[in-house]
Amino acid sequence: MTTNRLTILVVDDAPPMRRLLARWLETAGYRVEQAGSGAEALASIEASCPEMLIIDWNMPGMDGVELCRRVRQLRLPHYVYTVFLTARCGAEQVIQGLDAGADGFLSKPIQREELLARVRAGQRMLVVEQRLAQAARTDELTGLRTRRSFHDLFEKEWDRSSRMRIPVSCAMVDIDFFKRINDNHGHQFGDQVIELIGKTLEATCRGSDTLSRYGGEEFCVLLPETAEHEAAVWAERARAEIAALRIPAGDDSLRVTCSFGIAQRSDETVRPAELIDRADQALMCSKQSGRDRVVCFNSMCEAGRSRLKDASQTGDLLAGAIARDVMTPLIACLRTDQTIGSAADFFLRSRINSTPVVDAAGQLAGMISEKDLLAAMVSLDAWREPIRKVMKPNVLAYSEDTPIRRIYEFLCRVTIRRVVIVRDGRPCGTISRGALLRWFRNLVVSSGRVGNAWEILSGGDAEADARTHLASTARELARQASAIERAIGDRHSPISACAVGAATRMQELAADLLAHSRDNDELSDRAGMLQLWVLEGEKTAG
Ligand code: GH3
Ligand code: MG
Ligand code: MG
Repeated sequence: MTTNRLTILVVDDAPPMRRLLARWLETAGYRVEQAGSGAEALASIEASCPEMLIIDWNMPGMDGVELCRRVRQLRLPHYVYTVFLTARCGAEQVIQGLDAGADGFLSKPIQREELLARVRAGQRMLVVEQRLAQAARTDELTGLRTRRSFHDLFEKEWDRSSRMRIPVSCAMVDIDFFKRINDNHGHQFGDQVIELIGKTLEATCRGSDTLSRYGGEEFCVLLPETAEHEAAVWAERARAEIAALRIPAGDDSLRVTCSFGIAQRSDETVRPAELIDRADQALMCSKQSGRDRVVCFNSMCEAGRSRLKDASQTGDLLAGAIARDVMTPLIACLRTDQTIGSAADFFLRSRINSTPVVDAAGQLAGMISEKDLLAAMVSLDAWREPIRKVMKPNVLAYSEDTPIRRIYEFLCRVTIRRVVIVRDGRPCGTISRGALLRWFRNLVVSSGRVGNAWEILSGGDAEADARTHLASTARELARQASAIERAIGDRHSPISACAVGAATRMQELAADLLAHSRDNDELSDRAGMLQLWVLEGEKTAG
């Protein structure tokens, strides 16, 4: 804050006094505004907020104390340092003035040097206040806006978008599997990743966009004058740039991905918080459907319905879906050089019966199942052999953009229960028969066209049955969470294996709950869909 940029509003009903003060202050390099009454002063402050106020105590109408009190109630862009001019400076008056919000007093008759010293004192305080405000607005790690200041700005942009009837979109971005990055490389490295993602996002944004660090590893972006489909184009570019980063981590390099949720303001979103909430729901859907992708709120709502509509016309509920939509993201896999003994331990504790195996570069090298271990377990020496000796090296893997129909037909034909999904040769998920059936059931239920599965199966009180089922799903989730907690607390229990088993199960349970949260009341046209559901479900299960 430079001397000549500081604006001081002098409020006094006596014009000669205003003129005198203005001359002294202007000569010292300050910009001066004048007001002859409290009302005039309030109007002037609301139009353009000064840094400092010099108020005469005694004024007709609204007196200085009342004006000061009102100023303190206004939501102003910054603090206004306020000084009273008064003939009497007794204790009682000082108390009353300070309680009304004043910062200082100048007693009449006013001395020029005292006035200027008082202004300089105010200026020092304003500099400190400005620094604090800047710190509160800025996230220390990334230099981006904090959540709080983002909300303030959002409110303003919201008003502008209402006045000018221009679109505004919001994007929520969350780093995928960030906990693992912290766990494997340390918190400090995690911080560097957050910073880098912030910078990468910032570089892809336009000058008019506002990017904030919304939470730990979560960012929220405000895109003014941008429709949802345009925001999605930006998000896809940002997503690809992040996924292409190679972050040096010791001798290796690390790949990080982010999930994006996008929403555009509509007639149904009446407050900024509702728009952010929609972007958050789209983000949740992005996480649930495999991560590292952009999901738009509107298309998310449309997708279920239109897929069902197409399906009821073509009889194909799998139309348009790809492996990524269905797969269960991989929580852990084994390495070729780990021992058969450690694989057995992993299976027993995680209650997983097969898992992909990767080489040192993370590329899919094979698959190992309980059956492969059974064949090796009779010799004690075998337990110390590397997994590569017993795994199946030729694994049928599908890329994540494979149409789900191909995988569905494969799983219907063969005895194999699960296929591996890869991205750039690295396993990123699996699709089991169970996962396919679950996805299929959730698709039908979440679109709201057939109520829920329990309604179909029970034929009774659908609402009550669904609630009972959801309650037991929630209980099971809590049970799995406790299992993880116990494993962590038990010094003799290897954390990762227990956590993997429980977390895999929790992924499935959460998918069920999320599908139900999208459930709605449009239960028309139920009979036809019901038949399709049962038929297709039987096929998948068979
Ligand atoms: P998901 O793909 O579902 O988002 O998985 P995730 O592991 O990213 O899950 P979650 O959002 O639950 O975890 C976020 C973690 O980020 C939890 C917390 O320990 C960590 N975290 C939050 N703030 C910071 C931070 O400032 N620095 C670091 N290093 N880690 C943070
Ligand atoms: Mg998060
Ligand atoms: Mg995350």
